[in-house]
Amino acid sequence: MKPSPNAPCPCGSTKKAKRCCGPLLDGQPAPSPEALMRSRYVAYSVGDVPYVQRTTHSLSPHREANLSAWTARLREFCAQTTFLGLQVLSAETAGEQGVVRFWVSLKQGEQDTSFGEESRFAKEGGRWVYLAGRPIPPP
Ligand SMILES: [Zn+2]
Repeated sequence: MKPSPNAPCPCGSTKKAKRCCGPLLDGQPAPSPEALMRSRYVAYSVGDVPYVQRTTHSLSPHREANLSAWTARLREFCAQTTFLGLQVLSAETAGEQGVVRFWVSLKQGEQDTSFGEESRFAKEGGRWVYLAGRPIPPP
């Protein structure tokens, strides 16, 4: 459920997990939308569903009203997916809003399910959280 502290962070930053996304998964606030996005990728890759949920904005369209159904859907996605890598293409912050464009390499079984997204982030309760995203083409 956690990345190994001394291994390279799964987000691809080349830093050790304990100096990158590890502390965020342990509860430290993300310093930027990009940091939050990276930590959410790591959370998906290690199946930390509660982290994905608590870093989703309360008004996000990706949040499901039925918490147990949402949890089950996220668990299924994490279990069925192999996380092959993350590429952050751009990241901008303006006040309490942020936009991160990324490409994530994924496989489900033998199928390539990689996708690109332009994600929007906002601060809620003083912390960066994920608001919504729209698909973007491969870089
Ligand atoms: Zn990281």
